[in-house]
Amino acid sequence: MFVPDSINWVVGPDYGLGEKEFRVCYLDFQKLGLLSRCSKSYNVKQGNMRVYFKDLNSLLEVKSAERKDSLVGEGLDHVCMSEAAKHQMSTWDMYIQPALTDKIGSADFPSTPDGFNWFKGMYELGQSPREDLNDYVSWRFPTWTNRKMYPGGWDIRCPNIVANDSGQSYHKSGDGSCTCNAELIRVFNNSTPTFWLQEYCAEFTAFEGMIYPEFNEMQHVRDFPYNPMWKNWLTIDFGFVDPFVCLDIMIDPEDRVWVWREYFVTTRTNQEHAVVLKNREQPNGYHIDAVAADPRDPDGIATVSWGVGAVTANAIDRSAGYESVRRALKVREDGLPGLIIHPRCSELIRQMKILRYAMTREGHNSKQVQHDYDDHGPDALRYFFNEYFVLGRNMSLADLYTHPGNRTEADTFFTYHGGIKLEDSISRW
Ligand SMILES: [Zn+2]
Repeated sequence: MFVPDSINWVVGPDYGLGEKEFRVCYLDFQKLGLLSRCSKSYNVKQGNMRVYFKDLNSLLEVKSAERKDSLVGEGLDHVCMSEAAKHQMSTWDMYIQPALTDKIGSADFPSTPDGFNWFKGMYELGQSPREDLNDYVSWRFPTWTNRKMYPGGWDIRCPNIVANDSGQSYHKSGDGSCTCNAELIRVFNNSTPTFWLQEYCAEFTAFEGMIYPEFNEMQHVRDFPYNPMWKNWLTIDFGFVDPFVCLDIMIDPEDRVWVWREYFVTTRTNQEHAVVLKNREQPNGYHIDAVAADPRDPDGIATVSWGVGAVTANAIDRSAGYESVRRALKVREDGLPGLIIHPRCSELIRQMKILRYAMTREGHNSKQVQHDYDDHGPDALRYFFNEYFVLGRNMSLADLYTHPGNRTEADTFFTYHGGIKLEDSISRW
């Protein structure tokens, strides 16, 4: 607005939603004592909301996406797509974006997430590390970051958040041992996980069609150290353009699964990955008991075996794998779920949250096929579950090899139960 000769729009899905953003500007101008310097109208019902600074020849106007004819314009300098997630993508694509190109204008997309739609795509553009997308930036602000509205805020790892008998989490009420905001505690305890995640955590969620709706960061993500006394598996999903994924997974004596490290790398050969995996820094007492992988890539399996040791990979029906993972997601009697992921595994965590069944032509979610993008972390995880739980191969390589002496490359890398300790291991974990 303070750019001379500029045209600025707030575009709402309707005038009412556009007014929300307009109101903020209007009240700011009022506070700054600027309203006397402009001509203005403010009528939501008639869809007539505008502020015009005569001195600057700059205009702010509210438009409604319901009135497509009113969206035909050109030479816009800035647009605010109010409640962006509620807009149709075509409004942006066909009307607004073209009108911004003349003057290389800019746009904001403030919104509460609304499932997996084009708005999520825009958000992802802003998160991308790709240099050609540097013009896009995005942020997420959970409700509790507004400390003025919600003094005390919210701690997603608050010790007072516990699970009830059915595994549903709730926040124990006020013994003053935490600062969590009372209103947020009330909402948290009275809303479904979907509602809470979308409306308060600013998370993109859609339980419809989700493969692991039980997965949530509060329960399944926590810090823990590497424990050399436990079994440790690698599990691999091959990829070249898609990432090659390798997860390090510990299994404790109660068969609880602890994913403690992830490796997501693109455009390298399997041989290069094998070398990298073999030469990584390792925590003290690091060892590998077995390796699971995608059974559909025999070449990849052969190459990786050369570096990290014999791979076990059997074709298992997807639904059996999903079911096995879901069982592990359940919270057990001691309050912890059967699957826990370390916060450093950020890609896996992100993908677990969004993994969904592919849509069939009728628009229904197929029970068998998942979206074939952004799912390589959960796939790798499933290959481990297939081998360890579905097929019940909770054995170790020590069961396969009686002694470390097969003269393979893997010998220099593997340790066996009670066997060789890796040299120069670093106690980073
Ligand atoms: Zn609390």
